[in-house]
Amino acid sequence: MSEALAGRIGRELDLLEREFGRPRPGRRPAPLDELILTILSQHTSDGNRDRAYRAMRRRFPTWSHVLRARREQLEDVLRVGGLARKKSRVIQEILRAIRRDRGRLDLEDLRTWPTDEAKTYLLRLKGVGEKTTCCVLLFALGRAAFPVDTHIHRIARRLGWVSPKADASRAHALLAGLIPAARYYAAHLNLITLGRRVCRARTPACPSCPLRRRCRYAARSVHTGRPRGPRLRPTLY
Ligand code: SF4
Repeated sequence: MSEALAGRIGRELDLLEREFGRPRPGRRPAPLDELILTILSQHTSDGNRDRAYRAMRRRFPTWSHVLRARREQLEDVLRVGGLARKKSRVIQEILRAIRRDRGRLDLEDLRTWPTDEAKTYLLRLKGVGEKTTCCVLLFALGRAAFPVDTHIHRIARRLGWVSPKADASRAHALLAGLIPAARYYAAHLNLITLGRRVCRARTPACPSCPLRRRCRYAARSVHTGRPRGPRLRPTLY
């Protein structure tokens, strides 16, 4: 069953690559930069995440400045990305923990650590979950990790790759086993592109989707014009 499903997922990833190309890793960002950027991406668009990140780096050029900033000042520059109060607190707590553990404000030594140890360390930081950890592992450290964000979770349930009831953590465990590690990078980025442009949370554009003939959610809507079955609520991380 899982072999057949893995084969099916592979063919659907091929269709996405035909549509969107095969993204390849470029320059790897600093692990700490990637970690903080991913924290800022929670519950907001990429545009607002990037605006908040740039505003923070302009006002506080080093991580040491960010750590020493008055909470209200940090909150103020992060406001454009939403949840500024929570994010400013989490970011300063993470920076404080990293300085305490490593004696300096960077995570460069993670590049030489075994993947499991780097993952365990990141997950121990307060406010850092599975998706954020996988983003640092994949994008900054070039390791085999498959982050499941809100787009990928929604698409995987609609396509029938995982059960409609699978939560993000379950979907993560299943998909990481069904997708070959060598495809993680391109699969992650192409699924996010599909989620942003086509398989949107409230208004999926099924008629123009490259996966429409293989999608359970689209098949359910053929006769009624609207999807039936378990309703998928947008998931926020
Ligand atoms: S066919 Fe529709 S529901 Fe299925 S993956 Fe494409 S856009 Fe999403």
